Amino acid sequence: MSTRWKHRRRTTILATAVAAGVVLTALPASAAPGGPGAGDPYYPEDGNSGYGVSEYDVRVNYDPARPRHLEGDTTVRAVATQDLDRFHLDLEGFQVTAVTVDGTPARAVSREGAHELVVTPARPLRKNASFAVRVRYSGEPVGEGWHTLADGGANVTGEPHAATAWYPANDHPSDKATFRLTATVPNGWTVVGNGRPGATTKDRGTTTFRWYEDRPMATFLSTIAIDKFTVRASKLSDGTPVINAYSPGSRIDPEAEAQLPEVIDFLASKFGPYPFSSAGAIVITGDDGEGPPALETQSRPTYHGGFFDISMVHENTHQWFGNSVSVSDWRNGCLAECFAQYAVQLWDEEKNGSDLDNFFYRGMLEESTADPEFWTTKLYDPGKGRELDGGLYSKGSMMLHALRRTVGDDAFFGTLKRWQREHRYGNGSWPQFEALTEKVSGKDLTGFFDAWVDGTTVPQKKYLYPGSLGSLDPAPGQAGATAEAPTTSDGA
Ligand SMILES: [Zn+2]
Repeated sequence: MSTRWKHRRRTTILATAVAAGVVLTALPASAAPGGPGAGDPYYPEDGNSGYGVSEYDVRVNYDPARPRHLEGDTTVRAVATQDLDRFHLDLEGFQVTAVTVDGTPARAVSREGAHELVVTPARPLRKNASFAVRVRYSGEPVGEGWHTLADGGANVTGEPHAATAWYPANDHPSDKATFRLTATVPNGWTVVGNGRPGATTKDRGTTTFRWYEDRPMATFLSTIAIDKFTVRASKLSDGTPVINAYSPGSRIDPEAEAQLPEVIDFLASKFGPYPFSSAGAIVITGDDGEGPPALETQSRPTYHGGFFDISMVHENTHQWFGNSVSVSDWRNGCLAECFAQYAVQLWDEEKNGSDLDNFFYRGMLEESTADPEFWTTKLYDPGKGRELDGGLYSKGSMMLHALRRTVGDDAFFGTLKRWQREHRYGNGSWPQFEALTEKVSGKDLTGFFDAWVDGTTVPQKKYLYPGSLGSLDPAPGQAGATAEAPTTSDGA
């Protein structure tokens, strides 16, 4: 669920002068500063402007015996989208000890606000220039995405932003990049990240783990998990490697584990090919209780305590809806949560023969028709702080079922697959999804979307009971027939 920064810091201007003796040169007339935000209507300071990241190379050192102390050495490879005389990265806390741009010490480095690191390179960057900024830093992770485990281990989960807690980033889902993690911990500890593992090496009491996510990833989906994990490897049906990591004391359920390939195959049949080159799970115990109950960390969702088919379906649906196709900004949470929640119903329909019209849709409708509160969430642009509102899960999954019945299965699933194809490894917005649905179905859905997505009251009857659902008009005395509660997931 939505998390907020808890450690708001006073504005500080620190650490200047990395490059003594550099002569100030006149900037080209066109050079301008990069901005401190990516333009998100809810989180204007998240992310930055003026460049796009192509890859993060994050190197960290963490000793659980010296909890909450991290040493970082991160290189961000990026391309300037405008002439830049300086630019911002997002990093909360830490002492920044050195910053170079393309190997040359930055002329100036300063901190602004809670999480802005402002870098002035020795020479301004030209539009379209590739550059690499290397930041060395150490100290206590204080951003909200960082969670310390009871045994000294740690993990990172947070939405809508978490990367800022452990490496300098353009921390907004609109800027996606491949991700390389190199993490050194004392022998006996294991580090799990996103993507595929690289070589593990040992050196005088420490072990270095390497992970590489080779598909673009939104920063909040990047993770590091440090614990004395039990690691179990297997494969999806097409041979894609699966790595499941379990904290000590978490529930290892071989049956649930064995079901992952089936879940992925099922989701692929609905949405198109699985988008990533690895899969699996990170199961955490002994956490601080402040993270989301589960998060769709890319290619390897994070769960608390254990997982089962429902939570796997929800978090793995996000691998398509949210991860491969990420929100363009936080007004578009429905593009992730409405689908992840509805997919649980699709699974129930396929595996258990559940009658979604009666037991899911009609049941929820009857429960909620007289509850004005249920309908108050706008599914697009629900408002700052409500970007992951519970209404996206409940009303949102009902909306998708009503949409499916309105346009028919061919157009509905055809739209989902085309959405995935057209936006694969990129971003999308809800208005784009509405437009695509109209295009694929050939229907004018303005009234439907106005009622279900933008409306804050029960939709008019014609949008509640479209076409084939006409026969579901509740008949007197039948309300009790649908008492079975719809299956829900407490995942995020
Ligand atoms: Zn979710």
